[in-house]
Amino acid sequence: MEMTLTRNRPAMLDRLEQDMLIDGQRVPALSGKRFETRNPATGALLAQVAHGGAEDVDRAVAAARKAFEGPWRRMKPAERQRIMLRLADLVEEHYDELAMLDTLDLGAPVSRTVLGKTRAGALLRYYAGQATLIAGDTLPNSAPGDVLSHTLKEPIGVVAAINPWNGPIGMSVWKAGPVLASGCTMVMKPAEQTPLSALRFGELCLEAGVPAGVINILTGMGDAGAALSSHPGIDKIAFTGSTGVGEKILHAAASTMKRVTVELGGKSPNIVFADADLDKAVPAAATAVFANAGQICSAGTRLFVQREIHDEFMARLAEHTSTIRVGDPLDPATQIGPVVSGPQMDKILGFIEGAGQEGAQALVGGGRLVGAGLDDGFFIQPTIFTGVTDEMTIAREEIFGPVLSAFAFDTEEEVLARANATSFGLGSGVWTRDLATAHRMARGIQAGSVWVNCYQMLDPGVPFGGYKLSGFGRESGPHHIEEYLETKAVWINLD
Ligand code: NAP
Ligand code: MG
Repeated sequence: MEMTLTRNRPAMLDRLEQDMLIDGQRVPALSGKRFETRNPATGALLAQVAHGGAEDVDRAVAAARKAFEGPWRRMKPAERQRIMLRLADLVEEHYDELAMLDTLDLGAPVSRTVLGKTRAGALLRYYAGQATLIAGDTLPNSAPGDVLSHTLKEPIGVVAAINPWNGPIGMSVWKAGPVLASGCTMVMKPAEQTPLSALRFGELCLEAGVPAGVINILTGMGDAGAALSSHPGIDKIAFTGSTGVGEKILHAAASTMKRVTVELGGKSPNIVFADADLDKAVPAAATAVFANAGQICSAGTRLFVQREIHDEFMARLAEHTSTIRVGDPLDPATQIGPVVSGPQMDKILGFIEGAGQEGAQALVGGGRLVGAGLDDGFFIQPTIFTGVTDEMTIAREEIFGPVLSAFAFDTEEEVLARANATSFGLGSGVWTRDLATAHRMARGIQAGSVWVNCYQMLDPGVPFGGYKLSGFGRESGPHHIEEYLETKAVWINLD
């Protein structure tokens, strides 16, 4: 990675006041209120962001509705596709800037944020391809007489996308893809901690030729998300975030019967059998939980290691973990930055303290990382707990920080039952060289993704989503776009 990137302060930050994007215009909140977004590595103020309220939600939804009823709906699929391909090029061209906005706003190191470029371009091009593939069916029927039946696929309308803070630009792109491909319009609310790259992405949409009002970026707090979730002008909600807020959204959506997809939290098992390739499994087990400072919904936070290799594996994992470079996100050699905010740090430290009180032992880490210029940031040591029982709080609750709970197991049957003994079901990992074990585990694990001899693989063409309290609906893959379409049956009596 070139050092120059670390010195490139995004031009967008020349202005301290950042307005939201409604109907193609950057506008302040009607109330005039603003909130601060800060760099979690240093505490430095990055921007004062428009603090959208219910009246701004009304305005954004009205803009999205007008755009939906306007020329956008009548645009040919190939025209939408051309705009999306242009957007893919623009996002790639500007990716260093988008990545830097996320590094400053979220604290994720540049070594991580720049890697999102390939995926962002691939996502937009995948969905651009789908824009010209939306089709109904001509279906047989047994009605008396000569009656033809076929289906029409129509865009569902105005979508509210409500995003978490852990992967801001990637999440914006992921949410926009099916909206643009299907001919829907959107009001997107980024998380309060990381609003910046979404605003820049909205500008790039306009530059690519997406008509004003099709993509609106509404910055604000949870109450703006709540106002969107219950707004009668919203037809569908695409929510990614915590299970608690997901539940509130389902309630808010009920009275107007909005279509809803919810991508929620996790407590994913990563299972290492004795016959696994440990040279691969050891570093992967660390990356599975520590990447992005543990702030990944499908992080492998429960590590199950077969007893024969448990002690050797844990020793090697501890050794590997001690070499992970935690520190300044702008240093290209840094692998892990701070967590997103003070409250998030305190929450994680609370889990770490509680684990000790419940009887778990910290094999590595176990506290805040200070000194070496890190005192003003929210840095936490990558932490591994052993002596964890399945009932302990850290074994059950999503921590969303760099904290691993490790367990020993004896048999396949036992570990499958323990892996599934969670209210979540998002990701999972299985490490074995035995084909039959791999397939049995893949069938048995109750989770939306099973990664065998790998972890955290994602691709625009492959569905991602949750079982149980990890939510419902699948993002990516050939069927994702269906969530953005209505199906209308048309009957034509030919007699
Ligand atoms: P969060 O607290 O649930 O917030 C997510 C979004 O919802 C934010 O934009 C938030 O606004 C908004 N919000 C808050 N209260 C709301 C309400 N009552 N109605 C509507 N919207 C509301 O989640 P987070 O802490 O940002 O993110 C971490 C969580 O996201 C973790 O649980 C993680 O597992 C999950 N996640 C899941 C996936 C997945 O694909 N399954 C991916 C990434 C993250 P504010 O920012 O203003 O609070
Ligand atoms: Mg921030």
